[in-house]
Amino acid sequence: MTDGEAGHQLHAALTDVGRVRAHNEDAFLAEPTVGLYAVADGMGGHAAGEVASAMAIETLRERLAGREAPDPRASDPADLRDRLAQTLRDAGRAIHDRGRERPEQRGMGTTATSLLLRPDGGLLIGHVGDSRAYRLRGGELSRMTRDHTVVQERVERGELTPEQARHHPASGVLTRALGVPEAITPDTHAGEWEEGDLYLLCSDGLTGMLSDDELRRTLRSGGAESGRPEALEELARALVDAANERGGRDNVTVVLVRPDGAA
Ligand code: CA
Repeated sequence: MTDGEAGHQLHAALTDVGRVRAHNEDAFLAEPTVGLYAVADGMGGHAAGEVASAMAIETLRERLAGREAPDPRASDPADLRDRLAQTLRDAGRAIHDRGRERPEQRGMGTTATSLLLRPDGGLLIGHVGDSRAYRLRGGELSRMTRDHTVVQERVERGELTPEQARHHPASGVLTRALGVPEAITPDTHAGEWEEGDLYLLCSDGLTGMLSDDELRRTLRSGGAESGRPEALEELARALVDAANERGGRDNVTVVLVRPDGAA
């Protein structure tokens, strides 16, 4: 677990192998100095999923938070949105190329869900796959990403309820991922954060085990003590513990961010 206080953000991040899997193929990124956070959930045999998720996270770090990267806080929002999308596309291409070079890593892939918080109040999301970003504002929980899954398309066609989708045997079948042979288009979303917001990035090891309503209740229970750094760490731990108590069938990763944490 890490926690940090820089600029006006508090964050806590935690990843856990769960109760069933032998390896943790999830990865996360927390760079509070530039307001960049991400979760990646890798897939592929022979531990290749770990390679894919680490490559996605490292590409985001280098391009958006590295020494060579232009300061995302000083960049034009439209340019930054393009750069975020291009970074995800490039990460996908690099993962695919690596998989072609090494037979044991062939076919590896990863999700990537990233959040960039700007000091001027703007936020950007870049997203591919079925990891998610949520916002808790005024006690209401909103999903800020759309799952790139076959079951999500069936929910949108009215063929499945969200609860049925969550328990569906094909719930993990992705329609978009980093590392696939085809060119993919990341979803990007620009918006604004407000004081009091709480953001959650997570892998499907959390959302497969807990409904949105259960997430909301847990997040609200930690909302009363905003501003206390340990409260966010405790909340991250409570989310991971809840997923494990339900069976922990997959790796679980959570990143929590309060944009005005130090205010
Ligand atoms: Ca997963």
